[in-house]
Amino acid sequence: MKRVIFTNGTARCGSTLVDLILGNDPRGFSLGEVSSWFRPWRTTHFDIKCGCGVYPCPVWHELKKVGEEDLYSEILDRLDVDFVVDSSKRLTWVIDQNIRLMSAGRHQVFNLFLYKDPVSLHYSHWKRGHTDVARTTREYHYYDRAISARLPFVAVNYDWLVSNMDDSVRRLCGLLGIPHWEGKHCFWKKQHHHLWGSFGPRKQLFEKNPSNYREGFSDEYRRLIPGYEKMFGEDPDLQGTLKFLQDRDIRNLGQYPEHGRLGVRRPVFYYRQRIRDFRLRLFPQWAADREAATIRDRYV
Ligand SMILES: [Zn+2]
Repeated sequence: MKRVIFTNGTARCGSTLVDLILGNDPRGFSLGEVSSWFRPWRTTHFDIKCGCGVYPCPVWHELKKVGEEDLYSEILDRLDVDFVVDSSKRLTWVIDQNIRLMSAGRHQVFNLFLYKDPVSLHYSHWKRGHTDVARTTREYHYYDRAISARLPFVAVNYDWLVSNMDDSVRRLCGLLGIPHWEGKHCFWKKQHHHLWGSFGPRKQLFEKNPSNYREGFSDEYRRLIPGYEKMFGEDPDLQGTLKFLQDRDIRNLGQYPEHGRLGVRRPVFYYRQRIRDFRLRLFPQWAADREAATIRDRYV
């Protein structure tokens, strides 16, 4: 059976990186944050600047006419690949597609939830000038919402993933039942038709050089770690969420979990976010068109 793999998680959790690594296979296809084409929320989402650097992209020229309900089937059949990877992350999209795919029963569905330990996630914000601890804590609500929607998933810790890519990616591929070879994580060796997502890995597609994904803490931050660890450790809600993720961590699971008997559902937050989606389609957030400035003009 062909596969649809979702890589989800908070911002800066590594979902774009994992999407591209898994899609680095002649029989695989990385979609990127494809939901933004069907449900645009930024000004840059109304035109496709594909990661292949060709404008307009010949692959997406045809695919963009397909409706969101047929997207995966069309790609799997039309491009004759065995699996697609979608790093859209937006839970309303992930829930809708999970429900749709599971009721059709034509494809196997996998949800991967990338996560960072609190100090590691906080450091990603801290070095960008956001020292607020509450901001990091709020990010974990993403996983609470996913859990409340009863999405079956396997959790993947980012720091573990990047500590030994050959081993972690092999384990990930084994769980998903897709091929693995040494060096599969060198995703830039394949031409991808990848949309939006984290800009670092997308830029790497063109620079074609290995990157060090292990984010070492600065000396200044290292001195602050004990205090932050104490704060995060004393937050029972955060610890509860982390426990849930750790119990479903790939390191603790032998195989992908069975779908729950009750199935995926749409909790209250889903409807609030859908209303927001419709508002943003009409009044999208302005965003600098980085893809056009750095990819199309520079590389094509
Ligand atoms: Zn393309």
